[in-house]
Amino acid sequence: MDSTENCLNSKEISEVAGLIFKEFCKNALSSLNLYFSGLQMKHAVALCFLLLLCGCQDNSQPEANRPQLDPSKQYQAVVTTGMVGDLVRHVAAEHAEVIGLMGEGVDPHLFRPTAADNGKMMNADIIIYSGLMLEGPLQPALEQASKRGKTVASVTENLPQNTVRFPDGFGHHPDPHVWGDIKTWTLCLDQVVDVLSKFDPDHAEDYKKNAAVYRDELQEIDSYARKAIASIPEDRRYLVTAHDAFEYFASAYKIQVKSVQGISTESDPGVQDINELVDFLVENKIPAIFVEATVNSANLQAVIEGAKQQDWEVIIGGMLYSDSLGTPGTYEGTYIGMMDSNITTITRALGGTVPQKGLHGKLRIR
Ligand SMILES: [Zn+2]
Repeated sequence: MDSTENCLNSKEISEVAGLIFKEFCKNALSSLNLYFSGLQMKHAVALCFLLLLCGCQDNSQPEANRPQLDPSKQYQAVVTTGMVGDLVRHVAAEHAEVIGLMGEGVDPHLFRPTAADNGKMMNADIIIYSGLMLEGPLQPALEQASKRGKTVASVTENLPQNTVRFPDGFGHHPDPHVWGDIKTWTLCLDQVVDVLSKFDPDHAEDYKKNAAVYRDELQEIDSYARKAIASIPEDRRYLVTAHDAFEYFASAYKIQVKSVQGISTESDPGVQDINELVDFLVENKIPAIFVEATVNSANLQAVIEGAKQQDWEVIIGGMLYSDSLGTPGTYEGTYIGMMDSNITTITRALGGTVPQKGLHGKLRIR
């Protein structure tokens, strides 16, 4: 299996060096500074040197002696978002070292890989991403890795057509925020099992077992979501946020959603969008709106001000995780913790009934 190579051959090295140089030039140009920054130059040179070193070591190893996946060793799985990393960690468990590209609070719609990120992808045994164009600017790098024979897979690639949303006014682009519907995300779990079982058949049984345990936990949080949202008085069941990351969540758990921005965070809302939202809040007497970890909340402040001018007080009901998990190592840094936090925050702010610290009593009180 060619994707088990840990180091790079000389052709790969020149490609990586080219990529680094391209990225480097782009950065230099975009800052409108035509002079090479000493620090950037040092990083680029150091990385090229490391790659050459790695390549030399790799070439010193005869092709025939190069191991296939060694079942006693972890392989490197590079993942894009925290949500994808969560799935892969649960399925692969001790068999993989999972390396995330996008940390806490990083917006995947805007994420551009640095030279170091490109290096991580080149060295990965397998790359797993979310898909449905969530990672727009990363796409060329993923395609490049795939062309070079690396296993590159998306967790959403085999979702049944009827589970994917194609919002109005968004061309034929799918809405990528599928993790908002826990049942649909569970189908992505199955996809990870498929991908890893093909990639590493020796541990296929483990992957199946690990996924079965996690599937039960996902089912539990899905039931919690249904019950919690249903406890919000019906006339207040409106979820108002900064961007359209919650359509899947809304349709799964029966709450109406409104946002000041489109599906992607790449475009800015106009004054008219904000005014329309203000009128909507006032007419429907919506008591709270929500900020998102990855999105600038300035527009929501404008909405609150606008409502005030119409004598309607709207509060910030709390912070929601839309496109990234919380801090690694905390409950909110897991997919289940993130969903628990969102469900509990929404339900409490809109007058429903839920335990204050969520399904597992583990939420930090805000
Ligand atoms: Zn988003």
